[in-house]
Amino acid sequence: MNFNTILEEILIKRSQQKKKTSPLNYKERLFVLTKSMLSYYEGRAEKKYRKGFIDVSKIKCVEIVKNDEGVIPCQNKYPFQVVHDANTLYIFAPSAQSRDRWVKKLKEEIKNNNNIMIKYHPKFWADGSYQCCRQTEKLAPGCEKYNLFESSIKKALPPAPETKKRRPPPPIPPEEEDNSEEIVVAMYDFQATEAHDLRLERGKEYIILEKNDVHWWRARDKYGWYCRNTNRSKAEQLLRTEDKEGGFMVRDSSQPGMYTVSLYTKFGGEGSSGFRHYHIKETTTSPKKYYLAEKHAFGSIPEIIEYHKHNAAGLVTRLRYPVSTKEKNAPTTAGFSYEKWEINPSELTFMRELGSGLFGVVRLGKWRAQYKVAIKAIREGAMCEEDFIEEAKVMMKLTHPKLVQLYGVCTQQKPIYIVTEFMERGCLLNFLRQRQGHFSRDVLLSMCQDVCEGMEYLERNSFIHRDLAARNCLVNEAGVVKVSDFGMARYVLDDQYTSSSGAKFPVKWCPPEVFNYSRFSSKSDVWSFGVLMWEIFTEGKMPFEKNTNYEVVTMVTRGHRLYRPKLASKYVYEVMLRCWQEKPEGRPSFEDMLRTIDELVECEETSGR
Ligand code: ADP
Repeated sequence: MNFNTILEEILIKRSQQKKKTSPLNYKERLFVLTKSMLSYYEGRAEKKYRKGFIDVSKIKCVEIVKNDEGVIPCQNKYPFQVVHDANTLYIFAPSAQSRDRWVKKLKEEIKNNNNIMIKYHPKFWADGSYQCCRQTEKLAPGCEKYNLFESSIKKALPPAPETKKRRPPPPIPPEEEDNSEEIVVAMYDFQATEAHDLRLERGKEYIILEKNDVHWWRARDKYGWYCRNTNRSKAEQLLRTEDKEGGFMVRDSSQPGMYTVSLYTKFGGEGSSGFRHYHIKETTTSPKKYYLAEKHAFGSIPEIIEYHKHNAAGLVTRLRYPVSTKEKNAPTTAGFSYEKWEINPSELTFMRELGSGLFGVVRLGKWRAQYKVAIKAIREGAMCEEDFIEEAKVMMKLTHPKLVQLYGVCTQQKPIYIVTEFMERGCLLNFLRQRQGHFSRDVLLSMCQDVCEGMEYLERNSFIHRDLAARNCLVNEAGVVKVSDFGMARYVLDDQYTSSSGAKFPVKWCPPEVFNYSRFSSKSDVWSFGVLMWEIFTEGKMPFEKNTNYEVVTMVTRGHRLYRPKLASKYVYEVMLRCWQEKPEGRPSFEDMLRTIDELVECEETSGR
């Protein structure tokens, strides 16, 4: 043990990979905590190999894992979690005292971190979902308030209170106590400036849903979906006015003591649009539980709502958008305001030039003199602007930590501007080329993992990139790689770029079905992803360097593929080769690939960048 060590002990670590059947799942590691690092080593103190580490300043949450019912498949039975970046490390201590010691010390060390989570997941991520809230997205926001200064083993949500007379109603606000939310009180009145901003009344309580943006917090009034005195026709009128897919509310049913969920769908149910009204039913068990779908019963209405926000489970669509008789709900997108894609150009200031591309010059700028953004000024005649503006509304809703966020557009002027997240280290291709020889293999692999995560999100949302390549990825200050320019190829007006026989057409990134028939799909993105992996592992080489586009078409058609880069292990190269299967259906999905890459990262055990 050296002077800087705060704690040191052999604990068991669960692998961060998703496959539960792998023998790699639980490993004994020597954990060492210092002021700056939580490291873990293979072997004992005398001869140890560092297998991974986490920068203490990047830790967002340390907490005990609640595991009321589950069996723990290793000899250490006291789990805790360390959440950092986009990962959660589950660690198992041999005793309750050991676990308390680690959690307490780690909490002390992270108390000044500025990224501490507001909410976290109290139970394990297992078999593709969080055991606490059943959300199936690894990055899904937490479901319980995180208290850095208190132990987490708190009472579970209160059960449904029984009443003496008549049918006992399921718990509903305001009677329901909810200790999983952060509630704040407005200090001032705030008049909403945009149609969908939440108006704040001084002294009133609001629930904070997300604090992940410096200038916007997501908030709602407590139980914004509960509309006390609303009958069926009023509910339909409100849902129609809002016209949101998955718009919903909970209202008093016409049967006393019962509640109804009214739900609006534009696309669901055998192509039909319209309203559905579901009674909240109760089980005959004791204690009573309540449900919309029998298989998913809960002790209270807020829990039912929370569940069906993420799972349709028999409903015509998920409960996506709470509609209320009160004020409008808060922003739900990462733009500057909810559904505000038009940015006022007078609120932008322009700074240095960052680069230029097909569409024009990109400059660093500031929005409202404060927030750094990248502003692309679209060159006259370079883009099919009308179509793009329409699509921008969809693109703004694509929000993922590994996608460059589109904040908005300025379309009331020429040139039009596209305003996006600023990425300090610029384009990935230049980043690779400028630092050749300085990347470790695991850093290269984690770049592929970043891109794969962003692409898996696009695939899940049925959004095709069409031009995935290192030149279309950007790198931020922390070295995180994000996918950019998704879908933009459709708006290019230059024939040389759009026609597969054009000189600028990215043939070297395209599968046969694209250069032959322009058949784009998520599987054609997968082929391009393989080429992008190759660019990463060659630190920015040009694929098929010595060949013309025409030659590449012939070679690829005959089954020729890019060679294995020196820095790519045989496993990494296998992933590339799977992306380059001739038939699209032979290629893996991004979801499959992410699993494989996560496993590779895990095998090489590098959790620090
Ligand atoms: P186009 O879409 O017009 O081809 P690009 O998106 O490729 O343009 O941008 C051109 C260059 O500008 C990039 O290579 C990069 O160096 C810089 N750039 C673009 N967007 C950003 C951004 N969000 N943050 C930082 N630099 C950027």
